[in-house]
Amino acid sequence: VFHFAASCLVPESVKHPAKYYRNNISATFSMLEAMRATNHDRVVFSSTCAVYGVPQRLPLTEDHPKNPTTPYGRTKLAIEWMLEDYHNAYGLRWAGLRYFNAAGCEPDDGLGEDHEPETHLIPNVVRYALRMSPELTIFGNDYPTPDGTCIRDYIHVTDLADAHIRAMDKLDVVSQIQLNLGTGSGYSNLEVVRAVEKVAGVPLRPTIGPRRPGDPPELVANAAAAQRLLQWQPSRSGLEAIVGEVWQWMSQHPHGY
Ligand code: UDP
Repeated sequence: VFHFAASCLVPESVKHPAKYYRNNISATFSMLEAMRATNHDRVVFSSTCAVYGVPQRLPLTEDHPKNPTTPYGRTKLAIEWMLEDYHNAYGLRWAGLRYFNAAGCEPDDGLGEDHEPETHLIPNVVRYALRMSPELTIFGNDYPTPDGTCIRDYIHVTDLADAHIRAMDKLDVVSQIQLNLGTGSGYSNLEVVRAVEKVAGVPLRPTIGPRRPGDPPELVANAAAAQRLLQWQPSRSGLEAIVGEVWQWMSQHPHGY
């Protein structure tokens, strides 16, 4: 089983934790019980760097203390614990893949990002640059980072997909896997705006708003363990390439799917 389904918006989880406990923890429990009843014993699970909370050291390694600061992160960590307990008691083989910031798309195959409402940075900046939304707010510029805005590690969805296949295969020989999936390079929110400016060829003037609750200043992966165990190397995750693809898809699909 590849278990991707979840509610996954940090701010929403702060406002509506019940939705997260139901959709993430309770639904995963039902899924695991269904797996147990039908003798399915392998799962690759979409976990998140939000299990770490505010980093004590960077880049983040898998053994970094887990102190999730939001209901979203807590539910994902609780699921990792559930998987561990099912492993110990019932022999479940599992991989928890802790994504950093999933991004990018496959415009040549007609696949892109279309959320309602859209909350993620890259599509929001691209929508603003395409004049599909009237304004762009950057949440906070008083973080302890070089330009004051948050830093994230953007990993292409196709690189993530590749790691999932490799992790499922690896469960033949390793029964529990927990890995960070990121590039090891971080970009600030303003650097993302600059990257979109380059593609758009027009200056962008975002509004600076208050910080968003639950946002750690910087999240960057140490992805050495994934590279070693899965012989995995991100090949699609350059920021400019990601932004260019999102631009292409959104230009071709101004109303989404
Ligand atoms: N962000 C922002 N404006 C937006 C959307 C996001 O400033 O319209 C910031 C957000 O506060 C965070 C970063 O961009 O610092 C990445 O947020 P996103 O929601 O894309 O991913 P997350 O890090 O929450 O998984």
